[in-house]
Amino acid sequence: MAFAGRSNAGKSSALNTLTAHRGLARTSKTPGRTQQMVAFSLPPLAQEEGQPPLTARLIDLPGYGYAKVPEALREHWKQEIDAYLHQRRSLRGVVLISDIRHPLKDFDRMMLEFCFATHLPCHVLLTKADKLSRSQAAQALAALRKELTASETQATAQIFSSQAPTGVEEAREKVMTLLNT
Ligand code: GDP
Repeated sequence: MAFAGRSNAGKSSALNTLTAHRGLARTSKTPGRTQQMVAFSLPPLAQEEGQPPLTARLIDLPGYGYAKVPEALREHWKQEIDAYLHQRRSLRGVVLISDIRHPLKDFDRMMLEFCFATHLPCHVLLTKADKLSRSQAAQALAALRKELTASETQATAQIFSSQAPTGVEEAREKVMTLLNT
């Protein structure tokens, strides 16, 4: 599973929370820290008898979105991500991390389009939900789902917070389901 998100969206925190290994993916207040793809191996998943264990990896894709990231690097990573999504045959899906307080940005839309074009399931975590009231968070989720339906990207979405924490089990289940697909 690949994890993607704009810089500062909360991707490292989400990876830490989902894998429950604090300090595994370094959280950083410096935007744009993740500029290479990093893999985290999960314990082998139990398979049916006679089948080799399934080795699952979560891939931390580079995020960008700040002016601080030079345009050339941004373009380079865009191509790298596109190539990765197209060529990585073992890829089961993408988790897109997006700050619940902001509407989808160009980076998010690009990821949704890449996933749609490559027939990869995409699951959006609307994170930092603790920054909103419950009803505001529910409204943001409803608005996003409406947008996803209208754009026919076939992506799914849920509310998430690394801090609260909120939606962790739902996200884990989704990841495990996609890994087993
Ligand atoms: P990344 O650049 O996408 O990997 O983002 P980080 O995980 O490093 O988080 C960026 C900032 O957002 C940090 O200051 C985090 O503490 C904060 N943050 C991340 N997730 C949450 C969350 O669920 N709730 C709140 N309130 N803050 C968060």
